[in-house]
Amino acid sequence: MANNKFKILVVEDDRKILSMVQTVLETNGYQVLTAQRCQQGILMLSSHVPDLVVLDLGLPDMDGEEFIRITRRSSMIPIIVLSARSEERDKISALDLGANDYITKPFGTGELLARVRASLRINRQNLQAAMPGSVFTLEDLQIDYDRRQVCVGGAAIHVTQIEYNILSLLSQHAGKVMTYAAIIRAIWGAMDDGSVKKLQVNMANIRKKLGCRPGESRYIINELGVGYRMQDAQD
Ligand code: CA
Repeated sequence: MANNKFKILVVEDDRKILSMVQTVLETNGYQVLTAQRCQQGILMLSSHVPDLVVLDLGLPDMDGEEFIRITRRSSMIPIIVLSARSEERDKISALDLGANDYITKPFGTGELLARVRASLRINRQNLQAAMPGSVFTLEDLQIDYDRRQVCVGGAAIHVTQIEYNILSLLSQHAGKVMTYAAIIRAIWGAMDDGSVKKLQVNMANIRKKLGCRPGESRYIINELGVGYRMQDAQD
């Protein structure tokens, strides 16, 4: 039924990419709204209330980051940023401003669809995670938010308070990349020179305790130079 479709707003000034994204999304059952200017996108956001935004960062009238900043004042709608490989720095600041995910151009249709599905799902999971008594499950990993307990294969794992807080944070944003700065702010409150190193040491200990071998990207994916991503249960 047409009115059950997820509505996705695509803001992109490159006509080729815009039409490619639109075709892929429509073929896969999404309703697509398009804008080629930032201002136009912001207006459509309030008039059409889409479920998700796919946003190009380099737009002619305003920076895509400005779009995120304005949107986040009033809305938690998932935002996936499209960025060129040369915009590494922009990508990180977009995530820190509140974008949920990014896709690097050029990208394949499979990747686009996977990210869209994950972001729509996370939005629903976040609502559920706020409820008491919830348990995060990813393969044989379980995190019980009420007991603050982590289990692998049914056996409780001893983790420190900090390690638990990191795991809990990443799991509540499963499927989404969390930047070093975002994790550090959430866990320690402020960032200093040693923060990233401290986070990496904690992460190495966490991975060891979860039984991950070095280099193995089980449960938690290391997004080099950007941050960490807890795998989505349905990836
Ligand atoms: Ca552009």
